[in-house]
Amino acid sequence: MRIVLISTPIGFLGSGKGGGVELTLNSLVSGLLSLGHSVDVIAPKKSKLYEKNKKAKLHFVEGEEQISWQHQNYNSSVSIPDNSLLAGMVEKGLDIAKKADVLLNMSYDWLPIWMTLNVDTPIAHIISMGSESSLISNLISKVYGKYPSNFAFHSKIQANDYPFIKKPIIIGNGFNLNNYTFQDSVKGPLAWVGRVAPEKGLEDAVYVANELGEKLKVWGVTEDETYASEVEQSFPEKTIDWMGFLSTNELQKELGKCRVLLNTPKWNEAYGNVIVEALACGVPVIAYKRGGPSEIIQHGETGYLVDPDDKKNMISCVKIIEKIERNKCREWVEKNASTDIFANKVVNWLNKVMHEYK
Ligand code: UDP
Repeated sequence: MRIVLISTPIGFLGSGKGGGVELTLNSLVSGLLSLGHSVDVIAPKKSKLYEKNKKAKLHFVEGEEQISWQHQNYNSSVSIPDNSLLAGMVEKGLDIAKKADVLLNMSYDWLPIWMTLNVDTPIAHIISMGSESSLISNLISKVYGKYPSNFAFHSKIQANDYPFIKKPIIIGNGFNLNNYTFQDSVKGPLAWVGRVAPEKGLEDAVYVANELGEKLKVWGVTEDETYASEVEQSFPEKTIDWMGFLSTNELQKELGKCRVLLNTPKWNEAYGNVIVEALACGVPVIAYKRGGPSEIIQHGETGYLVDPDDKKNMISCVKIIEKIERNKCREWVEKNASTDIFANKVVNWLNKVMHEYK
C-alpha cells in the first residue's frame, strides 16, 4: 500500500506539543515500513521523523497552528486561522494521495473529517482523543453514517465517548521495544510523565509524593505555565523535580531508574503512551481507572488501578509496589503493544476502509 499520513497541526514532530500523536505516528511509520508499505508524512515545518524512518517521505507545510480542542470549550465553534497549517496539510495530503491508496489522518480536527464526505479519496481517521468537542463528535457521527469503517480508536473506553459508533475499531498503540531498555531499579524515585496541563492532573501525583515525604520527578512539555506554577506553589518547595522534555531515548534511560510511574488523568485519556513506555522499561504504573490506562494496566500484575481521584489509595499502592515483578511489565508490552502488532491492526483496518470505496 502507499499510505499518506497527516500529522497533528499542533507543534512540529519532535516538539512534544503534539503529545502522544508524535510517538504514535513514528511507531506506525516504523511498523508500516517494516511490513513493506510505502509511507508519506505531511507534517509542520521543522518536523523530524526517527532516524529509523528515513525511508518515509516527509513533506513540510508552513502555517498557523490550530488551538488544541482539549483547551477549548466543549461547545466552541471551529476556528481556522488565516494561512492555516491544518488546511495546508489537508491540501497537500489530498494532492499526494491522488497517487496513493489512502489518506490517513491523525489530527483531531474538523476539516479533515469533513473532507471525507467531499472527496473521492478514502480518508481514514485515527481518533486520538475522547470527545472533546460537540461539533467534532457530531461530524464523526455524520461521516460514520456514510463510511462506518473510516474511524479507529486507541481503546474501547475512549470509543465509548462516541456512543453512536456501534462496533468501534480498536487499534491500541505500538512501541518500538528496541528503543526501551529494561532496568531493575526497585529502589528508584517516583515518576510522572506528561504534558503539564490541567487534564493530566499533575497535582494529584505531587500530593501523593508529598504525603510520602518524597520528591516527584516530572518529565514533559509545560503546556500551561500558569497551571504549572499553581501546582508548584501548592506544595512545599522542591517537591517537584522538573526534568524537562526529553527525547524518547533520554527519557527511557531516566524513567527506567524509577520504581513506579504515577498516572493521574482528569479526562478520558484515549490511551496513555507514557504508561506503556514505563512498562517497557520495567517500571510498574499506578493509575486512575479512567480511560485507556484501565485497559492497559493489569491490576496486581503490571501495576495498580485505583478509583479516579482516589489519592489515598494511590499512596497505599505505592507502599506495596515492590510486589510487582518488573519483568512482567516489559513482557506485557512485548506481547501486546509492539510496532508490528500495531501496524498489522492498522493495515487490516485500512484494507477494510479501502474495500468500502470499491
Ligand atoms: N514525552 C517525551 N518526552 C518527555 C515527556 C513525554 O517524548 O520528556 C512523550 C511521550 O513519549 C508520549 C507523549 O509525550 O508519547 C505523551 O503522550 P500521552 O499519550 O501519554 O499523552 P497526550 O499528551 O497524548 O495526552
